[in-house]
Amino acid sequence: MAFQNLNLIEPILKALAKEGYTTPTPIQQQAIPLALNGHDVLGCAQTGTGKTAAFSIPIIQLLALQKQRKPGIKALILTPTRELAIQIEESIAAYGTFANIRHTVIFGGVSQLHQTNALKRGVDILVATPGRLLDLINQRFVDLRQLEFFVLDEADRMLDMGFIHDVKKIIALLPQKRQTMFFSATMPPEIQKLADTLLKNPKMVEVTPPSSTVDKIEQKLYYTNKNDKPKLLLYLLDKENIDTALVFTRTKHGADRVVKALLKEGIKAAAIHGNKSQNARQNALSGFKAGKLRVLVATDIAARGIDIDELANVFNYDLPNIPETYVHRIGRTGRAGNSGIAISFCDGETLKELKEIQKLIGKTIPVTEKHPFPMSGGAIEKSEAPKSRNNNQNRRFQRR
Ligand code: AMP
Repeated sequence: MAFQNLNLIEPILKALAKEGYTTPTPIQQQAIPLALNGHDVLGCAQTGTGKTAAFSIPIIQLLALQKQRKPGIKALILTPTRELAIQIEESIAAYGTFANIRHTVIFGGVSQLHQTNALKRGVDILVATPGRLLDLINQRFVDLRQLEFFVLDEADRMLDMGFIHDVKKIIALLPQKRQTMFFSATMPPEIQKLADTLLKNPKMVEVTPPSSTVDKIEQKLYYTNKNDKPKLLLYLLDKENIDTALVFTRTKHGADRVVKALLKEGIKAAAIHGNKSQNARQNALSGFKAGKLRVLVATDIAARGIDIDELANVFNYDLPNIPETYVHRIGRTGRAGNSGIAISFCDGETLKELKEIQKLIGKTIPVTEKHPFPMSGGAIEKSEAPKSRNNNQNRRFQRR
């Protein structure tokens, strides 16, 4: 199935083509037609399944098709973390780029001025975390009386993080007549109860969580020192006979530095990140796909939408600071039944990130101890395997 078969309007199809998306993910195939038909949707899916586009695209389309758009906030997407909120708004900006939709994101921990200014200019779609939203509602910067669409994202995580009371307060302020989409990776009783009160005759959509993909992927961990990472990468490309690899770095400069180190050793490599022009990114990507480049180095944002079917090797040159990003990254290998290897480097500064990742995936990544660039000072004692795992998190990664 292609996006063309989902009855999407031209501005959205154009935006998806620009993003490099060709095929809707299973959750998108299921949810988009239902939402476009006005149904409430109960989605069992987690980050990494493409759920953001599954709920954003119908909202953008339904708003874009309105002949007379009322003033005021028409769609609210509530999500638990600042990182997710930012990512969702970026996705809406991307998918709605030709649809003339105004959107903004609000979250706590930063000054509210920029956010209230954006709200004053007028917003069609608001992405928010619960605390800051309530705060701005109380200060009368946000009025939800015109709301037509409500998305509750990662509902089970709202519960885990103690936001459920804030969420309930917000829900109490929403107009009764609205279309609601509810996404949660798991359905503990309290979340099921909330879904029952929020949704009217919902259609259920469910996808296999990416953990099943994760299980197919061989994961390896190398403890090393920050300064030795370029050498370790070169060593592994050679020793493991790696033909092509996607290498993730946390920053744009980091990506450039890796490319420089590889080029110096005669390895064909290029970087894609936000400072590169669209053309340069496209060239790097097509060069990589065509086998002209052995290594593509990417930041997470730039790697969005990269769809390479037979990617066998992913390197986490820098461990991500959002654990879910690890699942996204390694999910890029081992697709379509192929085997995949995900190699992660952990230096003294990313032990905490490693712990969070292992907690999320519910297992310890096997460590390759024998290599020429080990971490100085006995990393293994410092990093612990997850001892007690949170039940909810555990459940989230089980097949339903
Ligand atoms: P999400 O689960 O919404 O966080 O999406 C996971 C990742 O998949 C994001 O990086 C998206 O940009 C990407 N993505 C979503 N839908 C598609 C698609 N149909 N084709 C390719 N990539 C996609």
